[in-house]
Amino acid sequence: MSGSTYIEWRDRRVRAKRALQISSFKSDMKQYDVIVVGGGHAGCEAAATAARVGARTALLTFSKDNLGTLSCNPAIGGLGKGHLVREIDALDGIMARVSDAAGIQFRVLNKRKGPAVRGPRAQADRALYRKAMQQELLENTPNLDVIYGEVVDLDVTSGEVTGVTLASGDMLTAGAVVLTTGTFLRGLIHIGEDRVSAGRMGENPSLRLAERLLKSGFALGRLKTGTPARLHRDSIDWKQLEVQLGDDPPEPFSSLTKTITNPQVPCHITRTVQATHDLIRENLSRAPVYSGQIDGRGPRYCPSIEDKVVRFGDREGHQIFLEPEGLDDPTIYPNGISTSLPKDVQHDMLRTIPGLERVQILQYAYAIEYDFVDPRALLPSLECKQIPRLYLAGQINGTTGYEEAAAQGLVAGLNAARRASGMEAVSFSRATSYIGVMIDDLVTRGVSEPYRMFTSRSEFRLALRADNAAERLTAWGDALGLIGQKRRDQFVTRERAFQIARSQLEGLRVSPSAAARVGLHLNLDGNIRSAFELLSYPDIGFEQLARIWPELMDVPSLVQDRLSTDAKYAVYLDRQKDDLERLRRDENLDLSLFDLDGYAGISGLSNEIQSKLNLIRPRSIAQARGIEGMTPAALVVLTAHVRKRQQSSVIA
Ligand code: FAD
Repeated sequence: MSGSTYIEWRDRRVRAKRALQISSFKSDMKQYDVIVVGGGHAGCEAAATAARVGARTALLTFSKDNLGTLSCNPAIGGLGKGHLVREIDALDGIMARVSDAAGIQFRVLNKRKGPAVRGPRAQADRALYRKAMQQELLENTPNLDVIYGEVVDLDVTSGEVTGVTLASGDMLTAGAVVLTTGTFLRGLIHIGEDRVSAGRMGENPSLRLAERLLKSGFALGRLKTGTPARLHRDSIDWKQLEVQLGDDPPEPFSSLTKTITNPQVPCHITRTVQATHDLIRENLSRAPVYSGQIDGRGPRYCPSIEDKVVRFGDREGHQIFLEPEGLDDPTIYPNGISTSLPKDVQHDMLRTIPGLERVQILQYAYAIEYDFVDPRALLPSLECKQIPRLYLAGQINGTTGYEEAAAQGLVAGLNAARRASGMEAVSFSRATSYIGVMIDDLVTRGVSEPYRMFTSRSEFRLALRADNAAERLTAWGDALGLIGQKRRDQFVTRERAFQIARSQLEGLRVSPSAAARVGLHLNLDGNIRSAFELLSYPDIGFEQLARIWPELMDVPSLVQDRLSTDAKYAVYLDRQKDDLERLRRDENLDLSLFDLDGYAGISGLSNEIQSKLNLIRPRSIAQARGIEGMTPAALVVLTAHVRKRQQSSVIA
């Protein structure tokens, strides 16, 4: 019992027992504040969030084996995605901590470019990731029951969702329900001409729930994604391959992680060659995407190898990263070569690739088609417009990727918990988070292909950096009840240190001639500059400043980094200030007053725009601005109309 009090130990035991009992319970009815369906990335984060803000929460998923599973590549983060993980962490979510516990190679992508486009990424040990996620949910999360079974129906009373029914016939009631069923809704796997109904390889699809959503009037679409074959480590000729090492020291995702303790491993790089491409071209008619067997659209930016060959030709071969799936696992994930070609073609194709001449396949590659719900059916809180108290998050909303799913899970879990306790919804702003960017994109524009995050999706990417997520979100998260004591203490201490150092830098001043005496060459204009201003120069950092003010070397290195970035971006951020202000104003101009009467009859709005507004029902002018086909003139009409209505509702 060392390291924990008796009460902590007893509570952990009670919680562990509760997970076990519930997994086999057979009572008639059980009542929760929030029910989360699905134990993938959206579901785990939704359940952890709802429980964290105090809702009595149940997470329902098929089995313990798939709780916290990485369906495809065992890697978290990357460009845009790494920003989302840092934002989840800034709100005290679990994905970053779990990734740190499982990471076996950490790299910050785009390290040579500016901080705004750097993306932290970690290769994860698949088994360790699942173990760490299960530990978080089953042992470290109070208020949470984990129940194993299939949800087959939604219980709806007076138009609002009130609970779910399991395949066993058991019913659970709740104040709000979050669906996070990923690729499972009518999932269909394709390997060449073979088709298998499945949610993922070896797992049943979710058919009855898909049927239920269709009957409830949701517009369901079809998308597809794919995964490469898995290879045996010992059948690869590593000697001829380029090595890719991680960063040393590895940089954790979570600000609460002090150091990464797992051993770090290398990845390797190989490429397709002419013979690979020839083989693919010869067999294109057997690829389900080209034979017409698959209807769903796949992710354009994460294409299958047959797509790459068709779209980009031979182009010096296509890169393949050979990534280990775990420390004690001989499985290698060949990133960059997903396919749905038949097994015999996969076998021959892989063996044309340098290093893979004698490769042994552990699992064949496949594509999966699945149903998704048009996310324009959702409010920015991720609540369904047509069935109040029902929330959707993750791949079910047309996104792809663990990070996108987890970020939506956090939003849906938070809002479901607030709804269940009668509080108003919270929406995330485009001005302060990539989470806000993603949700605004989804609910305003919908998706025509699987949506993934890129830094280019934000108009304010200089302000939304992976390194300043806490600064942007933690205090706000604290006001929403999302932040635990440990993070709050860390945040307050860091902010205080930052403010002190910033005032110190602004108070230290130097003339160009004095700076020149220590080798810092500024414009000899006689202007006195502060140490903070000097930091904005590309070739001046703390080391150079310390030549004038040696005491600055005592500033903690994390604070130094943040001050240097802030100083270098200050001029650009100043320029963006007006745009940010305008967005905030627009986001606050509430359009819910049109909910009752709709937009028909507003003169100056075309019929087409009226019907789009009626369909999407934007919450704010900012959201209306994002609607495809929206014109500046229509926005002026709309804004004037809102202001007029607001004024006429003011009681003098
Ligand atoms: P999932 O992780 O799929 O989790 C869904 C959960 O819901 C599961 O736990 C399941 O058991 C549960 N569930 C479903 N129906 C029910 C029910 N009726 N009752 C109870 N539980 C239910 N992403 C990328 O970024 N890049 C890729 O290249 C990529 N390729 C992929 C290839 C394949 C073959 C697959 C399957 C996925 C791929 N993904 C890829 C997507 C990535 O895995 C998902 O985006 C991510 O897992 C989505 O998380 P989620 O929580 O929405 O759903």
